[in-house]
Amino acid sequence: MVGHSLVGALRTAMRWTLDFALPPRCAGCGAITADLHSFCPDCWRSIEFLGDSGCSACGIPLQATEQATCALCLARPPRIARTRAAVAYGDLSRGLAIRLKYGRKVAIARTMARYMAPLVKAPADAILVPVPLHRWRLWGRGFNQSALVARELSRQLGIDSDPLVLRRTRRTPPLKGMSALQRRKTVAGAFRLADKAAVAGRTVILVDDVLTTGSTAEACARTLRRGGAARIELVSWARVVKPSLLMR
Ligand SMILES: [Zn+2]
Ligand SMILES: [Zn+2]
Repeated sequence: MVGHSLVGALRTAMRWTLDFALPPRCAGCGAITADLHSFCPDCWRSIEFLGDSGCSACGIPLQATEQATCALCLARPPRIARTRAAVAYGDLSRGLAIRLKYGRKVAIARTMARYMAPLVKAPADAILVPVPLHRWRLWGRGFNQSALVARELSRQLGIDSDPLVLRRTRRTPPLKGMSALQRRKTVAGAFRLADKAAVAGRTVILVDDVLTTGSTAEACARTLRRGGAARIELVSWARVVKPSLLMR
């Protein structure tokens, strides 16, 4: 126990020294900034932060309505009870996601988590589960970018994270260009729950880097629900949002 806390203290001291030695840089363009894990004023202005104001369920920005929940979610409550993304998908947010994916940049995961954490409103016994990659892709790249973000979120929020609970059993082709139905069919049955006990009766928060149509997350949610999860939420770094829905 003593050894463990000593290692923790050393690690904190080391991080502090590193943070102190290197000037904080903008996660978007690399310019020196005042604040760690943040953005310079120019990049900040170019990011569309989505915040927590959208539909209470799907998170899509709502236009001029008194309702907290959009008509689609009211008519048919989604399997993922609450979906949130930190920013709209754009040049800068895509750049960060790509650098995280191919560079294993822990600092980028930490920056993303910093803006995602305030959107997570889950009970203390919730568990963060990153959307899994197929093991071939995992071997090729060596890590799952969403798992890195989940680990940082776990650290910032003090809730569990487990990247091994959910597995991808089938390799799926890129979904880009497919219709909603094709996407659903492609990812159906591509996931398997490796540890039912870890999710039974709990709120599961799926963690993803980029949310497009949501069919992959939906397939994950179906597997988790079948495995006994009480509630499924989703938090992602960026989300593809129709430009017409963004307030300018
Ligand atoms: Zn910048
Ligand atoms: Zn909705």
